Amino acid sequence: MAKNETLQDQLKRIPSVHKLLDTEMAKGLMDAFSWGKVLDSVREFLDELREDITAGARKAETFSPETFFRRVRSHLEVGRRRNLRRVINATGIVLHTNLGRAPLAEAAIDAVAEAAGYSNLELDLAGGKRGSRYAHVEGLLCRLTGAEAALAVNNNAAAVTLALSSFARDGEVVLSRGELVEIGGSFRIPEVIAHSGARLVEVGATNKTHIADYERAIGAATRVLMKVHPSNYRIVGFTGAPTRKSLVELAREHGLMVIEDLGSGALVDLTGYGLPYETTAMEVLEAGVDVLTFSGDKLLGGPQAGILLGKARYIDRMKKNQLLRALRIDKLSLAALEATLRLYEEPERLAEALPLLRMLTQDAEALQARARRVCAELAGLQGVTLEIEDGCGYAGGGALPDASIPTKLVAVRSERHAPDALAAALRAEEVPLIGRIADDAFVMDMRTVADAEVAVVVENLRRALA
Ligand SMILES: *Cc1c(COP(=O)(O)O)cnc(C)c1O
Repeated sequence: MAKNETLQDQLKRIPSVHKLLDTEMAKGLMDAFSWGKVLDSVREFLDELREDITAGARKAETFSPETFFRRVRSHLEVGRRRNLRRVINATGIVLHTNLGRAPLAEAAIDAVAEAAGYSNLELDLAGGKRGSRYAHVEGLLCRLTGAEAALAVNNNAAAVTLALSSFARDGEVVLSRGELVEIGGSFRIPEVIAHSGARLVEVGATNKTHIADYERAIGAATRVLMKVHPSNYRIVGFTGAPTRKSLVELAREHGLMVIEDLGSGALVDLTGYGLPYETTAMEVLEAGVDVLTFSGDKLLGGPQAGILLGKARYIDRMKKNQLLRALRIDKLSLAALEATLRLYEEPERLAEALPLLRMLTQDAEALQARARRVCAELAGLQGVTLEIEDGCGYAGGGALPDASIPTKLVAVRSERHAPDALAAALRAEEVPLIGRIADDAFVMDMRTVADAEVAVVVENLRRALA
């Protein structure tokens, strides 16, 4: 401040809104953003400047229109970002619930785009009459699994709710104490049973349940013997549960149904791809289970959906349940589900066509090569070390919970950036990069990063480490 310059004089040196909006820089912004948004931002930043000058934190002389408009532009660009947008998953968890679970196959993405306009969602093209949305996937699901009938709904929670409310309302559901599962905090089997209007009868102990436990619990009000996949945990040690077959036999003797919530629901034998064993939908059907449910966006590798398979008479009853209207699958998910299921019709190409399986089956060399590319591109940054380390990844999504999958990590350590600050900066990018923090480093697992994403990973890191 010049010697006798008052605060008023300082504030007068700031250009007016009118003057700023009359510049070429402002006009450039108005080509890209609306006039109103540019005006609001210019006002907001000028107010901030006035406050800083009044507080003595800045001087009017330091005002530069170039810097000012650069900040306005970046503010407007950030404001235009969609809330829900793509991120780079460098967590190594292939089915990450917070990151949208399974990434869709290209064919599924195309199908979503096509169905976004008008479609034959509920039109029978052959007869020209009203059709059923469920018909688009029912035949496919039956062909792939050998089920008599099938139905797709909004998600697996909806599938379990529909099944229980159709067959156990006002009656009892018998379930082992070892299967009282909670998934992701909001899906708890006991509560889902209660919401379906049924009563839960717990049998057995946490680690062991015998067929006789089920038998003793059966009474006049019993409707369903239930089985739930303990998706996200394992009880190890002295454990035991009756086989699916013996449960089915017991149900037959008493004229009851068996409903199984399979959780992840694999449609192929994963051991054929060098992966850990996971119960397939076919196995469950072969054992004689009446209705089986699973998710579309876990090991199936498709969109959020719930799939019900089983005997035609039961599926038909669920199709007539009024609740289905509230639980129905939307057209975009249905399009993605059909396209995903069609990939299973060509098993020899599945591991390449389905991103989930492609990522899970990548070998160490491919992961190492990607890690080397990231390190090479970032070599020579001052005060930064990048190291390739061996690590463990997980399928996630409650699938294969105790099977850790060997993987390759890139660990980033910076003298000037703490790992959590680096992680925060990377989340603030236009395409956020999500990794983990371990051993005082920001860690990226190469299994869930696509080759096509390496350039963005490198750019983001370069900016965040600058
Ligand atoms: C994941 C899971 C659910 C919930 O499935 P959504 O598709 O997320 O609704 C229910 N039961 C089991 C056993 C699960 O693993």
